[in-house]
Amino acid sequence: MAEGFAEGTTLAEKDKPLILIVDDSPTIRMSLKRAVQDEFQSLEAEDGEAAWKLLLAEADIELLITDLTMPHLDGFGLIQRLRENHAARMQNLPVIVVTGADDTAARERAFHAGANDFLTKDSDRIELLARLRAHLKLAQTIRQLEASQRELRAQANTDPLTGLANRRFFDEIAGKELSLMRRQQDYFSVLMIDIDHFKAVNDTYGHPAGDEILKRVAATLSGNLREEDTVARIGGEEFVVCSPATNRLASIVLAERLRKVVESLVIEFDGQRIPVTISLGIALRPLDGDDLQMLLGVADERLYRAKEEGRNRFCVADKTSHGDEGLALDKICPRMDEALAMIRHGNLHRLKPHLPTLLKELVPFLELVNQQSVEAQVDVGQICEIAENLQN
Ligand code: GH3
Ligand code: MG
Ligand code: MG
Repeated sequence: MAEGFAEGTTLAEKDKPLILIVDDSPTIRMSLKRAVQDEFQSLEAEDGEAAWKLLLAEADIELLITDLTMPHLDGFGLIQRLRENHAARMQNLPVIVVTGADDTAARERAFHAGANDFLTKDSDRIELLARLRAHLKLAQTIRQLEASQRELRAQANTDPLTGLANRRFFDEIAGKELSLMRRQQDYFSVLMIDIDHFKAVNDTYGHPAGDEILKRVAATLSGNLREEDTVARIGGEEFVVCSPATNRLASIVLAERLRKVVESLVIEFDGQRIPVTISLGIALRPLDGDDLQMLLGVADERLYRAKEEGRNRFCVADKTSHGDEGLALDKICPRMDEALAMIRHGNLHRLKPHLPTLLKELVPFLELVNQQSVEAQVDVGQICEIAENLQN
């Protein structure tokens, strides 16, 4: 490296970018360090292994200057290790090779391994600094571009008032989850949620109070879900939740939990407590359909039913909805597949009250068995009698 570099102090030490200089010769390390010290802070390593340790320990290193021929791990190996690392910081770190001779084969190999630039040790300070600045600038620009891309993507997916996913993002996530559940032949539930009498809240307490409620309800919903569930705001005061691998009973438990926790929210605005409740409609794969838009449609119809039947309640089937006054989860009779799962899991306590209903559901099958077989006849009358006795 050419000598006699003037020493100036244009940048405060802490503002100087940190670079790592790797060379087995202390003289060359010193010479490089001196050459760049007006603009850069530097760390030094004597071979590839030592450099790698420093790179792992020091996240602030912004650029690497390395020799090629070194003991333990040479420059080619070091560059290769960087580029194969899973961390973006390692993959994108600018690497300038500074080596003794301008050897075309070595130059080609270094670029192939992932070096960004190649200088010989007799290049002058002006050129070295210019290359360092150019590579740092490029790396910084790339980082900024990636960050603003991430930011834009997040903005495109988010509802600005509540920070929840928006409809577009919900459709994307829910669509993927649903097709996974289809492949795994598992349940998938969709809950349509709408705040009750929200127009009246706005009219009575004002729009800012309405906005505050939307934020609180949004935070409450998202705080009461599993990590694999997704909640989105899809309209003024409408939300939707999708919950993979959630069967009918589990989605009832979820809906009831959400209903209760919103009902018990204490929301105060200008010293007044504003009561808030939600209504919910539930639809389920595979029982209600196998396509997202179809499930959303069914959930919406059931939401409408829950509204009609009094609000602050959920509706899971077309027959009836369940709110505070009537709802004990135990009153909802499990379907046959759910009952079998309860037996498998030893959940007999919850099953027992429903045994009579489930036994009666078996009657058509037993009658069919009797039609098929002449010799062995099931006493259907006796089964019905048992069911009646159990009920009383
Ligand atoms: P229901 O129980 O039947 O759902 O009655 P509702 O009053 O909630 O239903 P409706 O759909 O008639 O009213 C929704 C209201 O939500 C209308 C509008 O004033 C309010 N709204 C929609 N978006 C926003 C918003 O971003 N901020 C606020 N503060 N209010 C909103
Ligand atoms: Mg509403
Ligand atoms: Mg609405």
